[in-house]
Amino acid sequence: MSQACRLRHYWAMRIDLHTHSNISDGTDSPAELVLNAQANYLDVIGLCDHDTFGGLDEAQRVGSQVGVRVVRGIEMSTQVEDIAVHLLGYGMDVTDQALNLELERIRESRAGRVAAICENLTRAGLPITEEEVFEQAAKTPSVGRPHVADVMVRKGYVANRDEAFTDWLTAGKPGYVKRYAPDLEVAIDLLRKAGGATVIAHPWGRASRTVLTPEYLEILKTDHGLDGIEVDHVEHDFRTQSELSALADQIGLLRTGGSDYHGTGKLNNPLGVHLTRPSILEEIETRVMLRGGQL
Ligand code: AMP
Ligand code: ZN
Ligand code: FE
Ligand code: FE
Repeated sequence: MSQACRLRHYWAMRIDLHTHSNISDGTDSPAELVLNAQANYLDVIGLCDHDTFGGLDEAQRVGSQVGVRVVRGIEMSTQVEDIAVHLLGYGMDVTDQALNLELERIRESRAGRVAAICENLTRAGLPITEEEVFEQAAKTPSVGRPHVADVMVRKGYVANRDEAFTDWLTAGKPGYVKRYAPDLEVAIDLLRKAGGATVIAHPWGRASRTVLTPEYLEILKTDHGLDGIEVDHVEHDFRTQSELSALADQIGLLRTGGSDYHGTGKLNNPLGVHLTRPSILEEIETRVMLRGGQL
């Protein structure tokens, strides 16, 4: 089927541009994720594992077998003034050297803080070892707090990931240890230079709202070529979605949507709960092609 022919049919498509596999902190393997997407009548998913491209080959292979298009994605850890901001990238060259050096640096910092998290939790009365966490994170090069949370659930300390985060792992709680992340502007530049399109994930969910002001979003667009913002996301209530939607139109940013599916790791994020309009994916694809990338 020609490219143009495929594009004409996007209007009828269900597109979820934000999903995770167990190659980061989701619970489905890449193959299971794609089969679940098919079962949920999705035509296109973006696989955006945290700070790794490791799940893409398997997901795309299975996707081509069962008729689910898997868009090459990533969710990159970044920061603005010490506040964590997640950046979605689409269509970048996954072998780009500068980008991969930065991703390795982030992943090393992820792994490097596990011992400190375990020490803090053990001191607070919840004995847990580094070995247990790395065993839990065996599939991923991108270990994170969700893997610590899963061990805490297994050991009966908490009921689920959410409770582990709320009581123990978020900033200000005993199990929180800061890790390295590049500045948001650096990450946008890296992904763009690698041919990708960039979209800020859940910009007004959690603390990132305080630093991602309308003025700053406009600067990111004009000075760094930010492509879009993820407006439709479970961490944005209806009011926030409509404010962000108006802002995207005003600044000229693309409006995307995605579930942020993590399998059983996030119960409020079922596949397809938020979608991206076909015309938006078409625009992302056009931009990526012009930059030498490929969705
Ligand atoms: P880390 O990668 O170690 O910084 O942990 C952050 C990740 O944990 C996020 O990207 C989410 O995927 C996940 N997360 C954050 N808050 C929660 C929560 N309340 N329940 C489950 N998962 C969460
Ligand atoms: Zn995650
Ligand atoms: Fe995120
Ligand atoms: Fe995510």
